[in-house]
Amino acid sequence: MRASLPTGSRSGFALLFGKPNVGKSTLLNHLVGEHLAAVSPRPQTTRQRLLGIVRQPGTELLLVDAPGVHQPRGLLHRAMVEAATSALAEVDVVLYLAEAGWPAGAQPGSGVDIDVVGQAHRDLLRAVKKAGKPVVLVLTKIDLVERPKLLPIIDAWRQAFDFADIYPLSALTGENASGLVGVVRQYLPEGPPLYPEEQMTDASERALAAEFIREQLFLKTQEEVPYGTAVAIDAFDEQERESDRGPGLVRIEATIIVERASHKGIVLGKGGERLKEIGTEARKRLEKLLGCRVWLGLHVRVVPGWTEKRALLSELGLT
Ligand code: GDP
Ligand code: MG
Repeated sequence: MRASLPTGSRSGFALLFGKPNVGKSTLLNHLVGEHLAAVSPRPQTTRQRLLGIVRQPGTELLLVDAPGVHQPRGLLHRAMVEAATSALAEVDVVLYLAEAGWPAGAQPGSGVDIDVVGQAHRDLLRAVKKAGKPVVLVLTKIDLVERPKLLPIIDAWRQAFDFADIYPLSALTGENASGLVGVVRQYLPEGPPLYPEEQMTDASERALAAEFIREQLFLKTQEEVPYGTAVAIDAFDEQERESDRGPGLVRIEATIIVERASHKGIVLGKGGERLKEIGTEARKRLEKLLGCRVWLGLHVRVVPGWTEKRALLSELGLT
């Protein structure tokens, strides 16, 4: 018997779009069920596009996580915003993420005319509309909103824009999250899955290694330091990955590129303590992902002005 397409099987691309820090990467990780994308409380943690593959019976949802859209300053930023906006043209549906919640200090029913949606969102949505794709509003972080306040918020958004759907959820607690796939499904074209069953992402293990190290830089260093860092993977040695005796081993060598000598000192920390912590945490994540032991060697190199160096950005896959 020939394997036939499950009736009504659908597969397609959805872009996670929105301001930095709304929870795009957290939602991707939650729906894929694996920590793939870097998450931190700081904006602009996500620098490159990453595909997360979500499966439910009859549905393959290909989630595109891109850097958040912000005012670009410099070559690196322009490349990041370009990555987000160019993706708009290539997807079947746009998931526009915004934090549910009232502007600071405002209260529903206070009688004051408050724009819950806000001008920045209105401007962004106008830009999104030009792509001509269905836009589903995903109101994120509902764990931070008192339930009675949620309905008027949803109403305000509904009036602001012609959304195909509006869907509130919390990617952190998982509240209401899995149902999103069923909603988005309607906007995907019919067709068989595009990726093999076991695949979770289009990113290589090498690229994820760099992503995990960068995530720790965002979590463990302060102020402007993480924004001026990049990670290059110098070696990814799998010779001992398949081993007859006990768990295998992957050896990874990576260089953390920083903009200034003072940043190098911060990344290293006292007696190299911080770099060690960064390495330990990144290694733990990698061991989980690769399913084997990982040896991770980290180096720090100062390259003044690297964010404006086209050749280096391209070498790092950032342009
Ligand atoms: P991105 O820049 O849009 O990709 O945002 P991230 O996924 O990196 O998340 C930014 C911050 O918001 C992180 O500290 C997350 O832990 C936090 N966050 C994301 N989703 C939620 C949520 O549903 N509830 C709460 N309370 N925090 C969230
Ligand atoms: Mg992100």
